[in-house]
Amino acid sequence: SFDHSPAAPMGASQRPLKIVWIYPDLLSTYGDQGNTIVLERRAALRGIPTETVHVRSDQRVPADGDLFLLGGGEDRPQILAAQRLSRDGGLHQAVQRGAVVFAVCAGYQLLGHEFGGEEGQPVAGLGLLDIRSGRGEHRAVGEIVGEVSTELNVPRITGFENHQGVTHLGQGVKPLARVVAGIGNGSGDGFEGAYSGHVLGTYMHGPALVRNPGLADLLLRWALGQELQPLAPSWAERLRDERLNAVLSNP
Ligand code: GLN
Repeated sequence: SFDHSPAAPMGASQRPLKIVWIYPDLLSTYGDQGNTIVLERRAALRGIPTETVHVRSDQRVPADGDLFLLGGGEDRPQILAAQRLSRDGGLHQAVQRGAVVFAVCAGYQLLGHEFGGEEGQPVAGLGLLDIRSGRGEHRAVGEIVGEVSTELNVPRITGFENHQGVTHLGQGVKPLARVVAGIGNGSGDGFEGAYSGHVLGTYMHGPALVRNPGLADLLLRWALGQELQPLAPSWAERLRDERLNAVLSNP
């Protein structure tokens, strides 16, 4: 049905952008499906066709995906997800091909070298991001606002965080944002999230892309390898502004 869109920037033979939602049965504590819906919608508004695949933890991860999403999770499902993804190998292959990965909280931590299990024990991660996570003393719960790294060209991000983990960034990654309000990585350097190449992780929960359309567009730009037609500001920008003002006026 997208074929009739006058805005279609791609040739008719172009295959749809393949969005892969990894392990909704293990990693989806905060309505993470919303992120796939926002990506589909913002692509469709520009005449870009998408195909979304939900991959449960007993299924193979398709290495030919363009844009992968990993959500938040409780400690034990997070460990299970890390073990299965590591055995599967599909995500590693995709990243080597330059695929885009957007990972939230538990998904973010498990992309690193290691993270803290339910008793704080170190658990091996996938090593796709040069980060290490352990357990902090206090749970970080609440609103977060961050000033995004200028090279990403994304306006200030706002979100909700809820994690025990503390994440240390290695030399191989850059911080996603400088924390303006909230905790973020919690390692004392004042940063939130991390990225390297087209792999990006954040502590902002489920509705991260709903609240940050600019971040959704960054992922689409990376996945398509092209600039995107700007969209008229919508309720999504209004929601973002509203949360930004609420948090900053009442820190
Ligand atoms: N279990 C991890 C932590 O507490 C991730 C939690 C989450 O995804 N909300 O740090």
